[in-house]
Amino acid sequence: MEKFIKVKCSACGEEKTVFYAASRKVVCSCGQILSAPTGGRAAIIGEKTE
Ligand SMILES: [Zn+2]
Repeated sequence: MEKFIKVKCSACGEEKTVFYAASRKVVCSCGQILSAPTGGRAAIIGEKTE
């Protein structure tokens, strides 16, 4: 099932919506990595906001 979650960047505080099963890295506009692929589900590196 597809799922999107909001992640708050730990570096700049910007909130982004990240696809939970993302197969690509998600990088904030400030350069902070928010999510990285781990072979299936995304590892959320930023702070979850919901
Ligand atoms: Zn940021």
